Amino acid sequence: MGRNAVGDVRWGWQCPRCETDVPVTRDSGSETFCWACPQNTCPAVGFGFRSRRRARIALKEYRERYQDIYR
Ligand SMILES: [Zn+2]
Repeated sequence: MGRNAVGDVRWGWQCPRCETDVPVTRDSGSETFCWACPQNTCPAVGFGFRSRRRARIALKEYRERYQDIYR
């Protein structure tokens, strides 16, 4: 786990693909949380999370999958 452990405040909300700061927002309609990379050219997105923590975990998992593919 180490530096990238969930709950480590040093690990931020950065896009797994381009490292841009990614805002996590709450969808008032569905009561879920989502995140989307603000870069128009970047397809990274996640949605349908029941908490900010889950959204953050998903960001971490996305990053790990992405790095596995392009390692
Ligand atoms: Zn991005």
